[in-house]
Amino acid sequence: MTAVHSDVKIDQIIRSKRRTISLEVKRDGSLIVRAPRITKRGQIEELVKSKECWIRKKQELLKQRSLEVPAKQFVPGEQFLYLGEPYILEVVNEQADPLVLKDKFYLAAKSQKKAQLVFTNWYRKHAALVIKELVVHRAQQNGFAYARMRITSARTRWGSCGPKGSLNFTWRLVMAPREVIDYVVVHEMVHLQVRNHSKAFWGEVSNLMPEYQHQRAWLKENGHRLTLD
Ligand SMILES: [Zn+2]
Repeated sequence: MTAVHSDVKIDQIIRSKRRTISLEVKRDGSLIVRAPRITKRGQIEELVKSKECWIRKKQELLKQRSLEVPAKQFVPGEQFLYLGEPYILEVVNEQADPLVLKDKFYLAAKSQKKAQLVFTNWYRKHAALVIKELVVHRAQQNGFAYARMRITSARTRWGSCGPKGSLNFTWRLVMAPREVIDYVVVHEMVHLQVRNHSKAFWGEVSNLMPEYQHQRAWLKENGHRLTLD
């Protein structure tokens, strides 16, 4: 018997009642292993070793992305996305509202300390308005019946469709162009009728939005930019 040694560092092992081992590379590049309670350390190391190539690629990609999209500092001159367009941030002294969007984002100086919260709330509010409008429009145009709509904080799950017909969308989407948001709306609304990603599902998405592959590709390529941190 030879021990398996891998140079990949395991940052955390979470044991639970689960049956299989799973690997997750976090945004900071750390590696989290989830494993059944009885799994031996050696078994975990063996799996990590066998997936070393995948882990390293993933870590490299995430590192590149974090360099490309640094966490927001909320300082003048920084850019923030809304509906796919970048707007410059300006910090102003005399302003009743914490944050206003005109030609730029105007942040009240007194709100600068809690700017992340202020921006998140602003995005949430506008996501609710923009997405609701698209949902209502698609529902009227295509006869979709949904139960309710909710705004979430999910990072990579842009939308989801609950079993009882509720539609969920993350506020981060409102940073994307309107057509991209509309694609996610169409995608989730088609799930009201087709619960899987079968050919029939994509066929229906394509009927409603023939150019959907552009929007899908945009999300894949730019999704990691739709964040404040
Ligand atoms: Zn789906």
